[in-house]
Amino acid sequence: MKIALIAHDRKKDSLVEFAIAYKEILKEHELFATGTTGQRIIDEVGLSITRFRSGPLGGDQQIGAMIANNDMDMVIFFRDPLSAQPHEPDVTALVRLCDVYHIPLATNMGTAEILLKGLQEGFVDWRLIEERRQ
Ligand code: PGA
Repeated sequence: MKIALIAHDRKKDSLVEFAIAYKEILKEHELFATGTTGQRIIDEVGLSITRFRSGPLGGDQQIGAMIANNDMDMVIFFRDPLSAQPHEPDVTALVRLCDVYHIPLATNMGTAEILLKGLQEGFVDWRLIEERRQ
């Protein structure tokens, strides 16, 4: 599975802690991240990650392009709900694309935990359901 990891600045510590806690699951998957988030996870967690540009410089859009190309399976995006982001349009676009393509999206640690535990169990059938619907 291809998993994207993104965290706004005030949520980066949380994402690093989360990645440490779930390293055993995450390391089984192909990981992608925006620039600064990815660098922190590489340095502080030791996971291997493909890094895109920093979010404000287009990293969210690069991940969005992967979603639009049916090339991303899950997004873990710890958003900061208390600060304005200069790239808010990109953030909105990324969340929208997750909904367009039915990509599991966690915007906080509680949901991220459930997604990774679900992934570990392997009970994700939404692609089959969506294929049958078409
Ligand atoms: P960053 O980007 O990981 O490069 O900080 C995340 C974001 O703010 O969207």
